[in-house]
Amino acid sequence: MRKAAFVHSPGYWQAGHGPNHPMKPERLQRTYALLSAYDAFAAENSRLVPARMATEEELGLFHTREYVDAVRRLSAGDARVPAWRYGFGAGDNPVFPGMYETEGLKTGGSLVAAELVVSGQVDVAFNYAGGMHHAGPARASGFCVFNDPAVVISWLAQRGLRVVYIDIDAHHGDGVQDAFYDSDQVMTISLHESGRYLFPGSGFVRERGEGKGEGFCVNVPLPPYTFDEPYVWAFREVVVPLMRRFAPDVVVSQLGADVHRSDPLTHLMLSSAGYVAVVEMIAALAPRWIALGGGGYAIAAVPRLWTLAYGVMSEQVFPDELPAAYAATYESGTLRDQIPPSLDEQEERVVRRQVESVVLELKEIFQL
Ligand SMILES: [Zn+2]
Repeated sequence: MRKAAFVHSPGYWQAGHGPNHPMKPERLQRTYALLSAYDAFAAENSRLVPARMATEEELGLFHTREYVDAVRRLSAGDARVPAWRYGFGAGDNPVFPGMYETEGLKTGGSLVAAELVVSGQVDVAFNYAGGMHHAGPARASGFCVFNDPAVVISWLAQRGLRVVYIDIDAHHGDGVQDAFYDSDQVMTISLHESGRYLFPGSGFVRERGEGKGEGFCVNVPLPPYTFDEPYVWAFREVVVPLMRRFAPDVVVSQLGADVHRSDPLTHLMLSSAGYVAVVEMIAALAPRWIALGGGGYAIAAVPRLWTLAYGVMSEQVFPDELPAAYAATYESGTLRDQIPPSLDEQEERVVRRQVESVVLELKEIFQL
């Protein structure tokens, strides 16, 4: 049986982007509440592990020292720091008090996950507060302050490990792609809604890495309304053979829940069944597995998808009816979507054709 750890701290929701921002701390709070209500950490092969703060040196594996200092000072209310220079401002990336601690804890949680997996204590560790894939070395972007996937992958690469990064968030994993664009030790694979329609506007098929890294960066841009069947097919046709060929020592996955059909910011149409099918494929392929959260802005969907994902990781099947303890505080209903997303036949045909053409192009380029 797979040994799994869930990395957690109540500090994850101590401070946040503010009440009108989509990155609500409740997404994390409810996920933890739902898993606890299912008794998910009581199984013999499952454990709850506390997160810790990332050190400055660890943040420096990807970020500049200047940026780390700026985030600390902004977080403490130092008005002399030019926030705009580091990507902060009203809108997507507001400065908030306690930002350094909360966001540094998210990166530390991903490092805890990496330490647990690399030391062989567990086969998979899930830091659900991680996956902040847009941040740059000296810049906040797309709700992300510290790029924990890039920090963790750098940490793994330093130890000589070959890494595949799989990013299924609805948004392109641009910050992580850029970090390893010229590396043949790290393969980055991102499936996302096409940058023609969605932030950050990148992640096209032609972005394939450079220098030594050419051919080690893979993008699968998908049309709006991509639903379970073509999504899962694209994953099977492209990601599975690439991973078999690269044969990584460890897999880092970003499991953004904004692919769900109810997400208010994106236009992909996955159901819980499609999401689980993808997580199961990652589970089957990953020798050792560091799983991170990511986006996801439908408050009712995120806890359900990440609970299902942790179920795959720890080989637990949770009852479909949401537990009474959870229902009493949050909402009742079922863990899995009851009604599949519906497009009419014509729309389905259009989506299928578009996905097919992307997959065919990728197969030719990467000779799959
Ligand atoms: Zn996203």
